[in-house]
Amino acid sequence: MTSELTERKVITPPHRYRNNDKAVGVGNAFWDRSEQEGVAGIVAELDNGILRTGDGHEFVNFTCCSYLDLDSHPEVIEGAITALRRFGVLDHCIPRSRVQLPALLELESSLGELWGADVITAISAGVASAGLLPLIASGHLGNGTRPLMVFDKNCHVSMAGAKPACADETEVVTSGHHDMDQLEDFCRQYQRVCYVVDGADSLGGYAPVEQLAELQEKYGLLVYYDDSHSVSAFGERGMGYIRANNPIRDERTITIATLNKAFGTSGAAIVLDGYGKHSHRVIERFAGALSYSQPMNTAAVGASLASAEIHRGPELVALQGRLNANIALFDSLIDTEQAGSSYPIRVVPMNDETVIDAGRRVYQAGFYVSPVFFPIVARGTAGLRVMLRAGQTVEQIQRLCTVLTEVGAPAAKASP
Ligand SMILES: *Cc1c(COP(=O)(O)O)cnc(C)c1O
Repeated sequence: MTSELTERKVITPPHRYRNNDKAVGVGNAFWDRSEQEGVAGIVAELDNGILRTGDGHEFVNFTCCSYLDLDSHPEVIEGAITALRRFGVLDHCIPRSRVQLPALLELESSLGELWGADVITAISAGVASAGLLPLIASGHLGNGTRPLMVFDKNCHVSMAGAKPACADETEVVTSGHHDMDQLEDFCRQYQRVCYVVDGADSLGGYAPVEQLAELQEKYGLLVYYDDSHSVSAFGERGMGYIRANNPIRDERTITIATLNKAFGTSGAAIVLDGYGKHSHRVIERFAGALSYSQPMNTAAVGASLASAEIHRGPELVALQGRLNANIALFDSLIDTEQAGSSYPIRVVPMNDETVIDAGRRVYQAGFYVSPVFFPIVARGTAGLRVMLRAGQTVEQIQRLCTVLTEVGAPAAKASP
């Protein structure tokens, strides 16, 4: 090697808002171990609610976020096929700001009517956040004043991933989880603040909407909610926890939600109030991938129109009722920290050393639940993540709970 080459620069990463050495280092160890132990990397066909692997093992999925089972609803599937035939194309590739099929507009008007809001669609919630958050950071979506961007410590990776892009537009900080005192301090110090938080957390719990509404009233705080986990499963016409409980329905609240979980289709909804046509155009033209990448395709639009129709009628209420009954049945048998919550996710506490083995035994008995353990969660908080759905039968839930008890899950305190 010549001396010239040895003098070439070595880069020291700034790692101010992200760190792949840590993320990949920590995450890969978790995934490698999960795959080696047979509780990840599973391939299976879906047939009438039962999954079947190539070698014939059958199991019920208890880690699927389609909480109302609308993803396999015959009307939703038919809606996708009908729309594909009706529009004659899956996607006519050109930015919607130039030329668009009426498909997205039809869906946005349907969802807008459903939830009494202005709705803009995106291909996914992740894409919506990656596009919207930097526009909020620069003040272009808002009142023109650059806000301090406060990301809740536990906010979903799809929002946390936008920190570096926001940091090039404004100041970015990470706050304690639901730390309202700290947030109020920021509100006192800064002209404008935007708080970025999940409406419902993927390990349980809801955002403190009422306390946030007080800060919104007092300081003009802007709150960006990602309510992906509770839309459809919660609230009248499936409007989600945030829209059902948040009194601030104007430009101080922006809510997004995936349509891929309980809504049962594909894509995402950006739910706005009080933002006029000008802001809608700014979003369509400048919100990252929303402006240059593919929109929801016509099959996803058709499926979503059909799901929206179901949301308007008594079937949604019945499905929410069945989901709640299944959650209550599970809580009557197994004790978890989340017991009693209307939220469909439970983490069954397990020992760090035995959690994977427990997950494997549950899988062998015919149920998939996902083991979470250090380093993905803190030491001492390992567990089996269970998601209840409307379509699971009483018998399936009872059998699962029997197996869970056999592998060491704590029985419900009130159980006989
Ligand atoms: C599942 C989830 C997402 C991902 O939604 P996509 O539409 O698939 O991008 C984003 N945010 C939260 C809070 C989620 O739970």
